[in-house]
Amino acid sequence: MIKIGKANDNDYTIDAQYVSRYHASLVRQPDGVWLLEDLGSTNGTFVNEQQVVKKRVALTDQLRFGDSQTVSLSDILRFNNNYSEEFAALKEVYDNYVAAKVRIQSSNQFKIRLFQSLPFALPGIIGVFIGFLGKGSPLLFIVSLLLVICAPTIGIFLGAKQSAKVPQQLQDIANQFKIDYVCPKCGNFLGEIPWESLKNRKQCPVSSCKAKWVNE
Ligand SMILES: [Zn+2]
Repeated sequence: MIKIGKANDNDYTIDAQYVSRYHASLVRQPDGVWLLEDLGSTNGTFVNEQQVVKKRVALTDQLRFGDSQTVSLSDILRFNNNYSEEFAALKEVYDNYVAAKVRIQSSNQFKIRLFQSLPFALPGIIGVFIGFLGKGSPLLFIVSLLLVICAPTIGIFLGAKQSAKVPQQLQDIANQFKIDYVCPKCGNFLGEIPWESLKNRKQCPVSSCKAKWVNE
């Protein structure tokens, strides 16, 4: 939403005599079209010199507020600094990133433990198996002996291999996060800073940007 009027806390401030403090608003509709609404101004809102109360406006439409100079919608949008809606959408990006990180770590921990503990159970299972079927066969005895020796080594190897996967998976989601978690205006990465903390800053700290993140 873009607030238009004479008061300084509007998103688009107009310094003209017959403009009301809170004169009009522009609200982006779900279909992307902007809806202009007069907020009960004293001297009216005009689209292409026709007075309107509420009207969907196109980029080339000429807007006038009271006795202000006529501006096109695209002029106002270029001037607009209110990115609160786009910023609000970043909360999901941050939450999803944190959740994905936890998911990767816990699922890997489970697999590592499984790989490391399974081989210690394996010889026992094989021993029982051989006990039933082997009836003292020397070949089966050697196979079972080899497994007893090799299984823990394989387990440790698989566990180590699994734990080596973690940094790569974390790197992948971190790279995507760096693309997605950016200021909606200037595109600078916001860092691994919780969304709630950024919200408290209210605007982009980049001096050439200063996009408004929180609408007040
Ligand atoms: Zn910015």
